[in-house]
Amino acid sequence: DYVLKQHDILQRDEASIDFNDRGYHFGDGIYEVVRTYNGTPFALEEHLDRFYESAKKLDMDLAISRETLISLINQLISKNQLKTGIVYLQVTRGVQDRNHLYSREISPVLTGYVASLDRKHEVMQNGIDLWLTKDVRWLRCDIKTINLLGNIMAKREAADQDCHEAIMHRDGTVTEGSSSNLFLIKDETLYTHPATNLILNGITRQVVIKLAKQAGLNVVEEAFPIDVLAIADEAFITSTTMEITPVRSIKGDVDASIHVGPLTKKLQEAFNNLIS
Ligand code: PLP
Repeated sequence: DYVLKQHDILQRDEASIDFNDRGYHFGDGIYEVVRTYNGTPFALEEHLDRFYESAKKLDMDLAISRETLISLINQLISKNQLKTGIVYLQVTRGVQDRNHLYSREISPVLTGYVASLDRKHEVMQNGIDLWLTKDVRWLRCDIKTINLLGNIMAKREAADQDCHEAIMHRDGTVTEGSSSNLFLIKDETLYTHPATNLILNGITRQVVIKLAKQAGLNVVEEAFPIDVLAIADEAFITSTTMEITPVRSIKGDVDASIHVGPLTKKLQEAFNNLIS
């Protein structure tokens, strides 16, 4: 089991994190989760774009070139003989005595690991149940920060209601899932929240929008109210680990029962073609 620490691939028990890491004190860091299929990272360039963008938005300098990062990711995958799974990458701002005011003199701390993770065939076929709840997060959800309290509270709430995922709304307007983006289909048109500060612009979201347009579907990136969920023809969530997963019911602030429909299946097929 090998992990990444700065520019080195180490045995897991050789690697350590400083007690004064700002990630530990403040959640002052960013991350990415990249899917691998048969040992090959999927949409790596897009993930790296977002990684560098998140850093920039937080006034952090990753202090590592893209080429070096790609090489380290590939070494991590091959050292671990990873086939189908995920690569987790994280950068925190660095090590400093605890102080809200961050210094610009400290060096970022890069860590990474991999995990095997099979594709979720069962739920991708049969669909999942969603729990609709309030979005209590901050106003920079476009940054992929490791500070995920609003997301994890919502996810626990959903699990306690026997739902697979939480979907959130701000004052009645649907934003996204706790770790996914939400799409709905009405009259052959795909609707999803626009990529503003209120959601994370998912890489899978971006891929699906492209595939939908190629398939001749209308794509409308507009925020919609929660009531619309009850009249959707189809709905699905997207994420790196869940790919395109249909929604079969919604509970909580709205009640809806939804069929796993043909357009969702068509997009899943297009996605399968892309990764194979
Ligand atoms: N929205 C949030 C809040 C997330 O945490 C994630 C992924 O974990 C997503 C959306 C989906 O993003 P991606 O498709 O890049 O995995």
